[in-house]
Amino acid sequence: MPDQPLDPVDFSVQFSSAALAAGFRRQDFGAVLGHPLSAYTKRSVGPRPRIYLSAGMHGDEPAPPWALLQLMREGFFDRRCTWFVCPLLNPTGFLHGTRENHAGLDLNRDYKSLQSAETQAHVRWLRQQPNFDLSLCLHEDWEAQGFYLYELNPLNLPSLANDLIEAARVHGPIEIATVIDGREAAGPGIIRPVSDPLLRESWPEAIYLRNHHGPLDYTLETPSTLPLEQRIATQRAVVRAAVGALLQ
Ligand SMILES: [Zn+2]
Repeated sequence: MPDQPLDPVDFSVQFSSAALAAGFRRQDFGAVLGHPLSAYTKRSVGPRPRIYLSAGMHGDEPAPPWALLQLMREGFFDRRCTWFVCPLLNPTGFLHGTRENHAGLDLNRDYKSLQSAETQAHVRWLRQQPNFDLSLCLHEDWEAQGFYLYELNPLNLPSLANDLIEAARVHGPIEIATVIDGREAAGPGIIRPVSDPLLRESWPEAIYLRNHHGPLDYTLETPSTLPLEQRIATQRAVVRAAVGALLQ
């Protein structure tokens, strides 16, 4: 169980208020058991990198949505980029503190079969969005001892992975296992799941994004055993580092 529950109703109110104050537009693309599924967008004038961030896919991973809320409040989402933010993709998972949604479905295995109302609505919204220059999917891992990430970079663009790892290292340990989540690490804390058979049928969001929205995607994973505040600080630092490295 999370060390601090995240109430999806309270969170959505807080996030909405912070996002509107920061100049974002809110779009509810669906609802599940009365809980809105919301996306927030902020377009800057002129050509700007388009950055997509999502969190709250798993209801037992509270640090990522809190990190996005803090970044929103501190004015991080400024005019440097055009932003697309989905802060809480699985509100009913947070009601119960479960990885899965209220119906027991792991939404992050549902982006090919689209069985859940949440992924159906999310993909419908995504289809109306342009390509993204960078996608960040924020997660946590109950088995990891340190931070790690997945990189999807099919066009071999300059990798941001080392910048992200160094930013995470300031706030806590980096995963040192050579096999993480059943996959061989390319370097400390870095997984590059190239043509991974596990990903062919039950797509996570990141694979959907790679196939339909753009060339560079990172899934960030903080270790759930660390204190919540430390995980939030890590997620914030890594998001900042990713955007900073992309803009360089
Ligand atoms: Zn997760």
